Amino acid sequence: MDARVKPGHDDEIELRLSANARVPSMSTSTHDIEEGLALLPKFDANGLVTAVATDVASGDVLMVAHMNAEALAKTIETGEAWYFSRSRKKLWKKGESSGHVQRVRELRVDCDQDAVWIKVEQLGPGACHTGRRSCFYRAAPLGQTGSVALEFRNADKTFDPNAVYSASDKKPRG
Ligand SMILES: [Zn+2]
Repeated sequence: MDARVKPGHDDEIELRLSANARVPSMSTSTHDIEEGLALLPKFDANGLVTAVATDVASGDVLMVAHMNAEALAKTIETGEAWYFSRSRKKLWKKGESSGHVQRVRELRVDCDQDAVWIKVEQLGPGACHTGRRSCFYRAAPLGQTGSVALEFRNADKTFDPNAVYSASDKKPRG
């Protein structure tokens, strides 16, 4: 369901989208969104799009998080990654406490513009608040039924999160 054109959604969302100054007209078509050159992000009911950050050099997925309109705009303006924390309900700049800033080399949107892919140069030793380069350091073995035990993959810590993040900063940022 397209939140932008859905009638009767709540006023708060309407306000948030209006603040974004990018409320597509009712005539915005699927063709415009999929084939056009206008950035028409399809924010969900909470005003967010999913954002995946990959390492521009290795191609590895570093993290998945969310952007609201302001985070997306600031990322595009500054060339550094900004996100919106669902748990903290606030805008945050990647690296604001750790120094592990993400310099964005390319920002893409997917076909229906509800997800963003940023290829980044990850400054510092890692992107994950657990002290690892990537948030994706565990794998589920395939071909099993029933309960599954995860296995570590590239799980060595590249930095000490206790030395980098303050106590209040240590919960997941996604
Ligand atoms: Zn993480």
